[in-house]
Amino acid sequence: MTITQGSENIANPLQKSALYKKGLCDYVINVASGCIHGCTFCYVPSTPVIRARQPYLKDKGVNDPQMDWGKYLFIRKDLPEKLESSLVSKRVWHETPAGKGVVLLCSGTDPYQNKQTADITRMAVETLLKHNKRVRILTRGLLWLNDLDILVNPNVTVGMSIPYLNDTLSRQIEPGSPPPSLRFKALLEGRKAGCRLYVAVAPTPPQITLEDFIFYLDKILEIEPEVMFWEPINARGTNGKRMLAAGLDFIKPIMTKKTWAKHFIEQWEAFEKAANSTGCLERLHIWPDQELTGFVDSKILEYWWYKPTSEHWSDYENQEDLTNLRPSIT
Ligand code: SF4
Repeated sequence: MTITQGSENIANPLQKSALYKKGLCDYVINVASGCIHGCTFCYVPSTPVIRARQPYLKDKGVNDPQMDWGKYLFIRKDLPEKLESSLVSKRVWHETPAGKGVVLLCSGTDPYQNKQTADITRMAVETLLKHNKRVRILTRGLLWLNDLDILVNPNVTVGMSIPYLNDTLSRQIEPGSPPPSLRFKALLEGRKAGCRLYVAVAPTPPQITLEDFIFYLDKILEIEPEVMFWEPINARGTNGKRMLAAGLDFIKPIMTKKTWAKHFIEQWEAFEKAANSTGCLERLHIWPDQELTGFVDSKILEYWWYKPTSEHWSDYENQEDLTNLRPSIT
């Protein structure tokens, strides 16, 4: 496969983010545009950011930024320098109860997909830590293990997306990223080194059952994640088209809003049951889609959209225990 590669400049690498609604952060930094992992389900190419950049990406040689996702990567080489100036001049730091003022790397690409992105990520993390900011890494790559000297820090948490522990299934759905068995091993290594960790159990495909979730949680608890985020695969719109183009016919039954919502709720119930039986319910953090409105009680949706995670960043260690107020989907 030919990859269109290059570099690009952006004015301000530190962007305010609404991902506090997922309990993730208040700011995001993206070290590149495009992502060579090219996961078939990736929601990034369907976002307005990519749609708005269509003419710009065409000029750079990308014909169809949505369907060609995975085949282009433009690195933001001057990002660490720009980040430093932005942090020096910043007077007010935005901090919500659920976002906790955290900076996420990355929301629209993988920070550790290759050496070039890993180099920029390392410099960005060093800069953020120098300015006493909290950092959340989210990756499917393994190169973060080279940065344990800076990532083992109370102000950093490292998370990997591991939707299942099945390498064969992974080769169909996310063939460009390291298989889940290697991601799991990387997290074990991070745990041994003393890294704060979390897992994104996302996105889970429709064939995952209650038994699969129980097996998964039993195993993943070995790495002692502080929180486990969860959402199922979204097979609507362009995402669905890309998955069908990759031969993933198993998504056909969940391509309409109604069938998708029904499936979402069924898997949510199974995931909570599995967590109950493995004793880790309090560590789950559900990511319910806005479009579940009308399908799920609004109180349950709002609970998850505004709930801080169970993670213990220093200033929040004494926060009110919300476990007893937790509504159940089952
Ligand atoms: S690693 Fe993340 S950003 Fe990259 S293609 Fe996969 S889901 Fe998208």
